[in-house]
Amino acid sequence: MKDFDTFLNMMHDCRFPVGIGGCKNNKHNFDCCEYNITIFNNCNHDFDHAMKLGDDTIIKIHYGNIKEARSNILILYNRMKIINDPNWDLKIFLSKLHQNINNVSQDFIKNCLINSFIYSTKTKICIERHDPLSVLWQKCSVLFLLDALLIINSGKLSPTHILKYVRDFQHNKINSHFSIINDCIGIERATTSLLSRMYKSTLCLNTKLQKKDSKIIQTKYNYMIKNSLLSDCYLYLMYINRNYLIEMKNKIHSNNVDIYYMLKNGFDIDNDKIELHTRIKLVQNTADYLLREISNSGNFL
Ligand SMILES: [Zn+2]
Repeated sequence: MKDFDTFLNMMHDCRFPVGIGGCKNNKHNFDCCEYNITIFNNCNHDFDHAMKLGDDTIIKIHYGNIKEARSNILILYNRMKIINDPNWDLKIFLSKLHQNINNVSQDFIKNCLINSFIYSTKTKICIERHDPLSVLWQKCSVLFLLDALLIINSGKLSPTHILKYVRDFQHNKINSHFSIINDCIGIERATTSLLSRMYKSTLCLNTKLQKKDSKIIQTKYNYMIKNSLLSDCYLYLMYINRNYLIEMKNKIHSNNVDIYYMLKNGFDIDNDKIELHTRIKLVQNTADYLLREISNSGNFL
């Protein structure tokens, strides 16, 4: 902690606003979790990266914009604490966000459900073309549905802690749809040998995409395996791969054999086409139900 305190002191001298977010603020983190620091330098070309301090504390540095308007980013800032704010810009920004958080969350949920539809449609198109990427898009579609359920329930998104949030879901009609998500993802399939395959592919993709946060994946994987959190680890790795796939969505093609192979392992996909059609229908029906609930009630939250 001494090194982290030194780091925080350095941030106090930064000329930009700086905030700390993520699970460490919510106090439900694992010992292995990183500190998420956002520097609001308003530059879009600075890429997120992880750094390890002398005492093994891991910090992930994100770069943000004080005029951020995208709900998928704003939702991550909701519980942010201010570390440095020379001109009170971050205080004003966060106060506006808190006032507006219901609208931001509604927008995020709707976008997730629309994304779920988009990737279901993409799956169907790929099936018609006998494109093996179909199964990957179907997993994306399911995970967007899960994102929507997580925000409806807890307002928290963190690939590492999804199952903790799910265990806290109230029993009601909306949340009963988690069983469909669970069936489509196959969380119970997690074994150490399967996770080891998923992990290796995830790291390869991480390198391929020139990410600078492989330390975080390594640390979390080792921690979760050591503590027998196999289902948590399965969902964590799948989310990382979903995010990679979305990042590559306009470039990826099944002709990219090595990338396809990594994603296939990273997503733990099977190729049962009949089952796939059933899954698409279940996911679309659920997304449709949730969208109708939003339109009818006007508010989930
Ligand atoms: Zn965490």
